[in-house]
Amino acid sequence: MLVKKSFERGERSGVATGNGKLAFGGVRLNVYSYFIDGVLIDTGAHSLRKPFLHYFAELPIERVMITHYHEDHSGLAAALQQQGLPIYMNESSLDIGAKKGDYLLYRKVFWGRRHAFQAQPTPPTFTGAKQQWRAIATPGHAFDHLAYLNESTGQLFTGDLYCGEKTKVMLREESMPTVITSLERVLNYDFGEMFCDHAGYIADGRTALTRKLNYLQELQHSILTKHQQGLNASEITAELFPRSYPIVKLSHGEWDALHIVTSTIADS
Ligand SMILES: [Zn+2]
Repeated sequence: MLVKKSFERGERSGVATGNGKLAFGGVRLNVYSYFIDGVLIDTGAHSLRKPFLHYFAELPIERVMITHYHEDHSGLAAALQQQGLPIYMNESSLDIGAKKGDYLLYRKVFWGRRHAFQAQPTPPTFTGAKQQWRAIATPGHAFDHLAYLNESTGQLFTGDLYCGEKTKVMLREESMPTVITSLERVLNYDFGEMFCDHAGYIADGRTALTRKLNYLQELQHSILTKHQQGLNASEITAELFPRSYPIVKLSHGEWDALHIVTSTIADS
């Protein structure tokens, strides 16, 4: 299967950005890794190891902070660890990182096979080369998800908390109510610029996250109203999300709008 790959590096407000891109059939995916103050946020995917490792080699990395265990964020943690760098992630997923990645074939085609690595628990606060940082628990997309706030610059690194304003599909493991709680939590902190691992740099991160929160809250209300009227999860999904996206078929339903609805109903 032919997956087209490309890579783009850049710089935004003192943050080095590495953006790996994949295209396969009708599906386009991309993933970012960011660097500032000696701190690398996420490692990119193993399928893009050549350009990512080339990019990392030019950065004075002192520590690697992972937002969550998914293979497009932790795919090169093992390679960076071999270079002697300390790797940090949520304590709750250290055991997942310590084993080789276990996920469906389509994800191996896109993101490659994640090797095992030994991470240390992310501390609640830490100092980079010079600046002060804070980890913020933001579960929902993944149970172990952390956002990283550079408190010295007000820059927020959001992993997969944002990705886009209008969520149309979710992973089976995701919980929309938990995402809503995480968005509310992160908005309590003082930040401006946002660096998303899929949408890239967003100058007004606070407005983007607030809009996403509002969208999800309205969606939650619509789902629960329809549920109270007696519609089941499939019927609600068909009404609210009439369009089917290529990723649904490709992932055999691991990505689906249905998971937005079922996780909302399960929580009610
Ligand atoms: Zn993810």
